Amino acid sequence: MKNIYDLVVVGAGPAGLVAAKTAAENGLSVALLERKGNIHEILRMCGQMIVSLSGKYMGERVVYNENAKLLSFPHNGFTLKYDGPTKDFYAWRIYSPSEETVVFGDYDANRAKGKAGRASAVYDKGWLLRSLVEECRGLGVDIFAGENVIDVRKKSEAVEVHTASGKHFKGVFVVAADGRQSRVARVLGMNRDRGFYGSVTSVGYEMTNLNLAQPEALHQPLLASGDPPMMGFIIPRAWDHEGDPVWLTMITNVDPNADHKALLDNFIEKSRYAPWFKGAKIVRTCGCAGNMYSPIVYPFRDNVLFAGDAGWCQEAEMTGAAMCGARAGRAIVEAMLEGKYNAEGVKSYLEWWKTDHIDKLDHNVFLKNLYMPILCRDEEIDYIFKNITETLKTVLDPYEVPENLGKALIKIIPRIQAERPELLKKMTGFNDLPPEVVLKKTIRSGFDCRFTT
Ligand SMILES: Cc1cc2nc3c(=O)[nH]c(=O)nc-3n(C[C@H](O)[C@H](O)[C@H](O)COP(=O)(O)OP(=O)(O)OC[C@H]3O[C@@H](n4cnc5c(N)ncnc54)[C@H](O)[C@@H]3O)c2cc1C
Repeated sequence: MKNIYDLVVVGAGPAGLVAAKTAAENGLSVALLERKGNIHEILRMCGQMIVSLSGKYMGERVVYNENAKLLSFPHNGFTLKYDGPTKDFYAWRIYSPSEETVVFGDYDANRAKGKAGRASAVYDKGWLLRSLVEECRGLGVDIFAGENVIDVRKKSEAVEVHTASGKHFKGVFVVAADGRQSRVARVLGMNRDRGFYGSVTSVGYEMTNLNLAQPEALHQPLLASGDPPMMGFIIPRAWDHEGDPVWLTMITNVDPNADHKALLDNFIEKSRYAPWFKGAKIVRTCGCAGNMYSPIVYPFRDNVLFAGDAGWCQEAEMTGAAMCGARAGRAIVEAMLEGKYNAEGVKSYLEWWKTDHIDKLDHNVFLKNLYMPILCRDEEIDYIFKNITETLKTVLDPYEVPENLGKALIKIIPRIQAERPELLKKMTGFNDLPPEVVLKKTIRSGFDCRFTT
């Protein structure tokens, strides 16, 4: 262990690993601290879709170069080695309570086009992380797995990072990439100005033998409207189990007191979707819980930079987290080369965070994905979905979905005006409502731990 590292990274998810790799590639001394004993074991549930190979996300159009086995970020100027499995999928189908569908992407037409028609692909996140760990190790990053960071303090010559096992590390800079429930954000008081929008829980099974008419698609049934709503998701996995394709089947809702396992079993065994699961086999159970906060507006304090989910609203996605890691790592390299050990040194990261994240990705738009199921009754959602008959653009960006749905709704306004004027009035009022109002019940039932240590 070095006395003072150029960079100490907290958290070995995509953001932290890419930050460590980028800094080490440029000759910096780096320590990477991770709470899990086995970095590439994915304990926290993830859809593992690449967001996105079919459109832009955060100004980036990600490319998967299958020959060179590289995930490439041309706009951000970096690549990630990935030689693990992938599976393409061609559409995103969202189902109303009575199974009316809104469809992003024409499944058959897209499938006929092959790679050019895919909505995106799923990948193996554990594989990607393992490959990043190997690269970091090869570049001389000191990796400390099984170290839970409990405190971060700026001292005169460096930032001190303390772990539960009693170790402490010093870095000129620290990257906090410790995910959605970031402890570093809490101890440094970064959550003071953030909004809290509730706690989200997801439970799922990885399963084989599903009966899906469109197996290579993302399926999202709305299982309960009202407050709180509940969604189901069925997402192909990149790998097979004993020769059979695997899907992740999960439910997600914002009531932390619900029996989520019972809700998942009900979805699979008793809901209108039960025929999809007749004869299905469970391979693995997984889950996760986390809070929705507004993003950190200025991701720097006491020489600590925040990257990925640690500073985001809900989730940056693997690709957004990797972009943060690459940008943060590069900015710290610039600061070290220029001898500017302060915010001025890392200003390229701070400017990018503002222009490409805070200014471009309005978290209110993201939260609006929840509005319709909360504000409309089942029958109203069925009616709206039934009338959106066009196939919408193939997209996967969670900030673009509400926008595209909005455009489709505008086209059916005359019909709603004629047939259901009271519904139109209700829907017109949606847009002006802030999340604090619509998500009031969700917020009240959630576990806000912005300030606990
Ligand atoms: C249900 C669900 C589905 C999702 N589906 C997708 C999807 O399909 N595609 C996609 O791209 N994204 C998806 N995401 C989001 C994606 O998982 C995250 O955005 C991404 O992993 C963020 O990367 P990160 O490095 O910022 O944080 P994380 O991946 O959360 O990594 C943080 C790391 O920090 C470690 N850590 C935490 N606290 C400490 C501590 N105190 N000390 C040391 N280490 C610590 C954690 O163990 C973890 O390894 C999904 C998320 C959820 C919840």
